[in-house]
Amino acid sequence: MALTPMMRQYFEIKNKYEDCILFYRLGDFYEMFFDDAKTASRELELVLTGRDCGLEERAPMCGIPYHAAATYISRLVAKGYKIAIAEQVEDPALAKGIVKRDIIKVITPGTYVDNNAALENLNTYLVAIYEDGNKIGIASTDISTGEFKTTSFTNLKSTLLDELSKISPKEVLMAEGTSKELIDEIHASTNALITEKPFNEFIVSDKELANQFSEVEVDGLDEASKLACKVLLKYIFETQKMSLTNINFLEKYEILNFMTIDGNSRRNLELTESIREKGKKGSLLWVMDKTATSMGGRALRRWIDEPLIIKKEIEKRLGGVEELFNNISLNEDLRTALKEIYDIERIVGKISSGNVNGKDMVSLKSSLEKIPNLKKSLSSSESPILREYFNDLDELTDIKDLLNRGILNDPSINLKEGNIINDGFNSEVDELRKAKLHGKEWIASLENSEREFTGIKSLKVGYNKVFGYYIEISRANYSSIPEGRYIRKQTLANAERYITSELKEMEDKILGAEEKLVNLEYELFISIRNTVEKEIGRLKKSARIIGSLDSLSTLALIALENDYVKPSINEDGIIEIIEGRHPVVEKVIGRGEFVSNNSLLNNEDNELLLITGPNMAGKSTYMRQVALITLMAQMGSFVPAKKANISVCDKIFTRIGASDDLAGGKSTFMVEMWEVSNILKNATSKSLVLLDEVGRGTSTYDGLSIAWAVIEHITKMSNLKCKTLFATHYHELTKLEGSLPGVKNYSVAVKEIEDNVIFLRKIVEGGADQSYGIEVAKLAGLPEEVINRAKEILESLEGKSKVNIVPSEPIEKEVCVTKTEKHVKSEKSQVMQMDFESLEKEALIKELAQCDVLNMTPMDAMNTLFKLIGEAKKLQ
Ligand code: ADP
Ligand code: MG
Repeated sequence: MALTPMMRQYFEIKNKYEDCILFYRLGDFYEMFFDDAKTASRELELVLTGRDCGLEERAPMCGIPYHAAATYISRLVAKGYKIAIAEQVEDPALAKGIVKRDIIKVITPGTYVDNNAALENLNTYLVAIYEDGNKIGIASTDISTGEFKTTSFTNLKSTLLDELSKISPKEVLMAEGTSKELIDEIHASTNALITEKPFNEFIVSDKELANQFSEVEVDGLDEASKLACKVLLKYIFETQKMSLTNINFLEKYEILNFMTIDGNSRRNLELTESIREKGKKGSLLWVMDKTATSMGGRALRRWIDEPLIIKKEIEKRLGGVEELFNNISLNEDLRTALKEIYDIERIVGKISSGNVNGKDMVSLKSSLEKIPNLKKSLSSSESPILREYFNDLDELTDIKDLLNRGILNDPSINLKEGNIINDGFNSEVDELRKAKLHGKEWIASLENSEREFTGIKSLKVGYNKVFGYYIEISRANYSSIPEGRYIRKQTLANAERYITSELKEMEDKILGAEEKLVNLEYELFISIRNTVEKEIGRLKKSARIIGSLDSLSTLALIALENDYVKPSINEDGIIEIIEGRHPVVEKVIGRGEFVSNNSLLNNEDNELLLITGPNMAGKSTYMRQVALITLMAQMGSFVPAKKANISVCDKIFTRIGASDDLAGGKSTFMVEMWEVSNILKNATSKSLVLLDEVGRGTSTYDGLSIAWAVIEHITKMSNLKCKTLFATHYHELTKLEGSLPGVKNYSVAVKEIEDNVIFLRKIVEGGADQSYGIEVAKLAGLPEEVINRAKEILESLEGKSKVNIVPSEPIEKEVCVTKTEKHVKSEKSQVMQMDFESLEKEALIKELAQCDVLNMTPMDAMNTLFKLIGEAKKLQ
């Protein structure tokens, strides 16, 4: 049996797009076949049917109406699938044999223009990673906004993972043959779809690269960056099937110009999403994002993701925020204008991909109309950054005028319906509209004149798509119809419909004008679009400035609303915060409820702050507050404090002890140790490190020893000496103050009233002398018997009392001796002190009893004996 011709065509296309679900256009449907059909029916809950395909078995098939494709596509993409769309590419009426079909677009997670993401001001990034010997190049793009950037760095996996966690891509392009281990790791840390391509052939030419951008931009690239860009561009061409004009600027950046924060620390600090709910709510972004525009929303998110590390740049932003903070009316004027500005970057993206409609153009126009207001407000500004925005902001008057003259204020969305082009823009359009209007008026007057002529009051003139204009007369009036005046066209149950030759003539004129208008308006719209497209570079630049301005203005607004203060920035290694607050916790529990705290960190006596105190006292909150204040300062924001002097940090690390990790129990002790080791290897004296209950994930002595050794290492290694906040419930560690340089004890104050603890949330000098675990358990409502018993045990364990804590009552124990015989033994348990020493003694006895001397070599026996003697001596 042979495949049907259609199926042959299907397979020809499918073979080239094996990793995609193929949407094959048949009439008004996109059909999927075979495995694609099975996948789609499962994922989209569609009915799976079958179709004869020439083979013995019917081909599994399922389909979706083409006009509803968008929602299905977005669901499939969200699940990580790629979709290739095969359309008919010739007019079926003219086709000989089977209609030619071809792929017009491939939609993948990294190239999908997601409108829901746009609402959240989220970028959709696609990334290419090129390993070029000892260098790695990364190129990333968001095709909806036209952003395209690249960087390169020494081939180090940790740097790569840090950078990817910052970009947070939806899809990553990697070379075929990359180690599975690396691919898995990248997938695990970004959750992105990994697309492998043969990079040696899957690249655009030098010429194509230079055409897309300018030669100057391309010239400065090193090989790794350049190749990453070439792969990325190739993928855009292959999926979009066109070259996008909004991707016209190649931005180069240096990773080292921004603060390094690894993926885990980003999550722990809850910068843009909360750990528990994985949403924006509860994150730093949630507190800060009061932006008025989408461009501002994306800019602010970028600022949070990429805090600056160059003092001058930080101060430049701070200067702008300060001016807007002090000049409230200026900031309000700016915000009033900003609120009415649409997402210019995304409209530009639509222009470039040919998806723009009249309404978008009106949005663009009204956005451009606000720029003069922005400029006017900025004209008297003084801070260097606002001056710069003022000077660089292009009012784009030419484009605004063109749109103003060219496009109606309320155009139809569909470009093939007419009603887009403004009156007075094109004389032919005006003429045709006049003709159409004249015809319509004539028809409108026809009803009256015919009523008068015939005397039939219920006579109506109407229109339908099949018969065009008609005169309708109801059955009761048939007798009044003048002979020979009307031509009958259609008979209804209770009426007849007529035409006249004059009416038909007028109808032809109207319809002719209408058809011409639709075509002409479409052409004019396209020409306006093309003119605007030529100015995309200018539009994007202004959009970018508007985004930054919005972000800056938002920082001033939240500083005012939340009572933040301008930090001073130093490079002397000092972080000093007076009455600092946690920006998110104070929002959640209410400003009045939050207890502020001071902090002092330096590279001398206050290098490692050892923070002890009971559970729930506020240790974690305090440490994160220091990190967040530092990070906010470096993004150029005011900070929640009375006063702050912040030393520029190159990196911020946070590690939360394994069992303290709320991230869904994924973390194991091993991961915790892996991360601590990563911190010890990568931190510098300019870094800020938060270690929260490190060592908690293992037994007490293990954990304590590890914590101890880590503290020693940090303070002793001259290349490390990073500013560190170390929260721990091992109050034994407080001994280290005085014996290790730079270690300083702090604790969260609690007040003990009788048996209860009250958390004061104040950080005070000096270590906590106990953990108050039992008091906290009491607060949590553990039964009183349990609490009292726990106290008894604790006192005994700590050697404060000699009370026998092991039950002395006989315990009934069933011991199975053989399969058939049961002996019930009653055992009087021995009185013993439950301390660690006796546990170790027990272990020694057990070990001795288990020695199987007869099966040992003399050498083994000697060794074992030697070891046991050694252990016994320790316990003497
Ligand atoms: P720890 O790490 O010591 O166990 P946390 O930092 O997790 O304690 O704090 C526990 C809770 O105490 C927080 O969820 C918060 O609601 C509250 N809290 C912490 N710090 C403060 C503070 N400075 N002022 C008011 N409430 C606080
Ligand atoms: Mg904690």
